[in-house]
Amino acid sequence: MSESVIAAIATPAGEGAIGIIRISGEGAIQVADRVFFPVSKKPLSTLSGYRAAFGEIRDGDKFLDNGVALVFKAPKSYTGEDTVEISVHGGALMVRQVLRAVLKNGAKPAQAGEFTKRAFLNQKLDLTEAESVMGLISAESEAGLQISRGALEGRISKKIAEIEKNLIAAAASIAAYSDYPDEDIEGLDPENFEKMLLSAQKELEKMLSTYDAGKVLREGITTAIIGKPNVGKSTLMNMLSGEERSIVTEVAGTTRDIVEETVTVGDIVLRLADTAGIRETEDVVESIGVELAHKKIESSQLVLAVFDGTKPLSCDDKKILDSVKDKNVIVIINKTDLECKISKEDFASFETVEISAKEGDGYEKLCEAVAQISGAAALDPESAVLLNERQRLCAENATTAIAEAIAALQAGETMDAVGVCVDDALARLLELTGKRVTNEVADEIFRRFCVGK
Ligand code: GDP
Repeated sequence: MSESVIAAIATPAGEGAIGIIRISGEGAIQVADRVFFPVSKKPLSTLSGYRAAFGEIRDGDKFLDNGVALVFKAPKSYTGEDTVEISVHGGALMVRQVLRAVLKNGAKPAQAGEFTKRAFLNQKLDLTEAESVMGLISAESEAGLQISRGALEGRISKKIAEIEKNLIAAAASIAAYSDYPDEDIEGLDPENFEKMLLSAQKELEKMLSTYDAGKVLREGITTAIIGKPNVGKSTLMNMLSGEERSIVTEVAGTTRDIVEETVTVGDIVLRLADTAGIRETEDVVESIGVELAHKKIESSQLVLAVFDGTKPLSCDDKKILDSVKDKNVIVIINKTDLECKISKEDFASFETVEISAKEGDGYEKLCEAVAQISGAAALDPESAVLLNERQRLCAENATTAIAEAIAALQAGETMDAVGVCVDDALARLLELTGKRVTNEVADEIFRRFCVGK
């Protein structure tokens, strides 16, 4: 019985066509042999990798189900270890019973993210690739998925490896120069080091500059829809939450369950908190009016300020405009299907879109405006986009260390002093990709995964 064999249900809770129980570790196939009995009578441990067998799953004498077992042999598996995936009929109780049988026969329950952690420890993935797996699972928009997919393909790792190469070359040259300062070796001069460092700095700054837009694409953007009663906020909501575009999620764990509605506008997920306020009766909206708008504005990253195009701007409209002037705001002139009394010119300094929420006109323009204002329009999701705060911090610390190295060079400090800063920058990058990361950090990262991943 091996301590290191882990098992978990790999499919979501609930009913499905199939459910999968995953077993991994040295001895995983032997554990599977005790619960899975192929009709061919050939035990799974006699199969080579990437083979499937059909058979019975049993808990001792008790028949549980018929199913398929897929065998992976180390190192050619997700975790890099021997792995068996048993597919059974996808009932919640069924998969739990099969898992229980597997646990009785020598596996221990996997911790959250333990399969991916093992893949990382067995060098099947680096840390940025492992983190991208989380992004793949949680992606809600095509662009978000593309960013995580890129990271899984190693886009971040490759970019960082290029920068590392530059820095290692600089560190080596600096060390050589410190040892033989009087030798006149071509390329070994402070001016050349500075060039190398500046180039690494530029690359990192480029990566850092796309972080916020990447975050918008991955996670969406908290958005408030504000405007006076009857300007068409609910109608706009209905237009945005056309069946395919809307998902309503209950966010539990708060004193009162908040309903967060998400709508996808082009490539971007808008998180519309407190839409209940918008959908309530006009009387209520009337009574809360501008005051409610203020509260919502504060907690949102983006404001959609809606105005009734058929009416001239009122005092309240101007108040609303004034309260959002420092925010990311898109002015929406609604009801363009009717004769309008206001136009884009009335909102000169604002990004303005004309729509008819009722007719569904102007959706494309709104998509463009959201992409533009969130910075997502300028982002190529195919580029190396940092995935989370941990990666951003490592990249930022590396950039600071490089800036210090450049400052030390320019101030004519000793090459040793410059070298220390370059080493520091390198350490930060090794931390970013996980080549040099503490167990605590790795544990913390994988804890955020779900069990079975
Ligand atoms: P809210 O109070 O801001 O949520 O406004 P509603 O969405 O309830 O709309 C108020 C009224 O304006 C309703 O009668 C809607 O049918 C109408 N309305 C909303 N959008 C449009 C539009 O684009 N064109 C026209 N003609 N009427 C609209």
